[in-house]
Amino acid sequence: MKIKILATGGTIAGSANSATDTTNYAAGTLGIDDLIDAVPEIKNFAEVSGEQICNIDSKDITEKIWLKLANRINELFARGDVDGIVITHGTDTLEETAYFLNLTIHSDKPVVLTGAMRPATAISADGSMNLLNAVKVAASPDSKAKGVLVVMNDEIHAAREVTKIHTLNVSAFKSREFGLLGYVNNGVPEFYRTSTRKHTGNSEFNVENIFSLPNVKIIYHHACDDELFVEAAIKAGVKGIICAGTGNGSINANVEEILIRAAENIVVVRSSRCGGGSVVVNKNFIDGDNLTPQKARILLQLALTKTNDRYEVQRMFKQY
Ligand code: ASP
Repeated sequence: MKIKILATGGTIAGSANSATDTTNYAAGTLGIDDLIDAVPEIKNFAEVSGEQICNIDSKDITEKIWLKLANRINELFARGDVDGIVITHGTDTLEETAYFLNLTIHSDKPVVLTGAMRPATAISADGSMNLLNAVKVAASPDSKAKGVLVVMNDEIHAAREVTKIHTLNVSAFKSREFGLLGYVNNGVPEFYRTSTRKHTGNSEFNVENIFSLPNVKIIYHHACDDELFVEAAIKAGVKGIICAGTGNGSINANVEEILIRAAENIVVVRSSRCGGGSVVVNKNFIDGDNLTPQKARILLQLALTKTNDRYEVQRMFKQY
């Protein structure tokens, strides 16, 4: 099995001055060769090669890097050069890159993201085992057509469902509500379920000739909120707004009024800050289904590359 590891930085490539330091470190300092050399066992499971895409802390991820990653992966698969891809990534925005790729890669071959919560220099660093597990999952025939996967802490998650739920713990990723897809049990990937929404090989989104994405902002609603941020977003010319509302996407009368007016010209999606459950509001707006606001933003950006039609965008939110 030929597995290509695309490195983007993060804590998995991070180093600190002391082996006991787990927060005071620089992310994205080690290169792809260092990561591969640190886990020689990888070569027992796959023929691996590496490529450095960037070397950043993932809070600094850009749309340019997303587009570069998606296009590079599509190119590698189209050429038949590799059987699977592993991407090493910072954990802070890992779920967003994973969902973006879930919608823009056109192949059933496995694509697996992994990272680490402890820098490579720390006692009991988690990066090496995560990388080995990610390569095993990418090389497993069972991982085909499952969409983009995230492997962290011996767990296999679907890109659409997974989210970072802890700031420091090595068990930082969960697929809330529907649960994980599987485990890497004693080094063996085992799946228990699959995601039913459209992805990868069935996705209608294509970024091959796209060089920037529509400007979509998230507005986080809270008690005693007012129109300030919605007004600023409209003034700045955004093409879409994700409103992270309370409960079932609810928003107070002031904000609702200005969003109804905004929705005459741009697409407004109502999602929820609850972290569980679907949003069903059916008036003037798009329902964000059960996507987190940060993933609803990505789907809306890609939807707007194809259409401004509200019914079409709503269809996409029901399908992806
Ligand atoms: N700030 C780091 C990053 O996202 C955190 C990590 O990788 O765990 O790059």
